[in-house]
Amino acid sequence: MNKKGTLIVISGFSGVGKGTVVKRLVSEYGYNLSVSATTRAPREGEVNGREYYFMDKGEFENLIDYGGFFEWTQYVENYYGTPRKYVEQSLNEGKDIILEIEVMGAMSVKQQYPEALLIFIAAPSIKSLRDRLVSRGTENEATIVKRLKKATEEACDMDKYDYIVINDNLDVCVEEVNSIIRGYSCRCANNLQFIQEIKDELKEI
Ligand code: 5GP
Repeated sequence: MNKKGTLIVISGFSGVGKGTVVKRLVSEYGYNLSVSATTRAPREGEVNGREYYFMDKGEFENLIDYGGFFEWTQYVENYYGTPRKYVEQSLNEGKDIILEIEVMGAMSVKQQYPEALLIFIAAPSIKSLRDRLVSRGTENEATIVKRLKKATEEACDMDKYDYIVINDNLDVCVEEVNSIIRGYSCRCANNLQFIQEIKDELKEI
């Protein structure tokens, strides 16, 4: 059966733990993950080519001009973008692929690829989100304030996602997201080619 992979977009407020959810989906369920490019500085422990492709502004803008990004955006003063080639190749090979991207990027993906599955990971409350950002200790107070302001903008588009999952308990959250993806790939609308193949086979009987 020749079936395209599912394009899965996972977004969520900064600090909600979506990175951890995505890492577990990759390690436990074998999903492919698109590694984004960014102009922000690497955080401690981040490796080029694993968490991100780290590049300077000039390199990033060149790639924009060459149409090298599936989508890209500016987020809290830095560029972030999804390299086009790996995403298109994975989908054509029938592999599911996860993009962990922010809301503007997610909306752009949905526009150019309406079959994409959009999942938003939310915190149980904004207070818990702020506490997590502070305890993570990777950003200073000014950046935390910027990221929370960004969350206010992002909340406006939460209702455009297909699913909202609350990350109150990590194990439950990972399980819920995986079930949503599995269910989505079984939808008739995502299997029209398979349905046609079955009909064609039946005609030959
Ligand atoms: P961080 O700096 O915390 O790693 O990421 C900041 C935000 O950028 C997160 O919401 C993350 O999901 C988003 N992001 C990461 N890569 C991409 C990308 O390729 N495209 C878009 N639109 N957003 C991205």
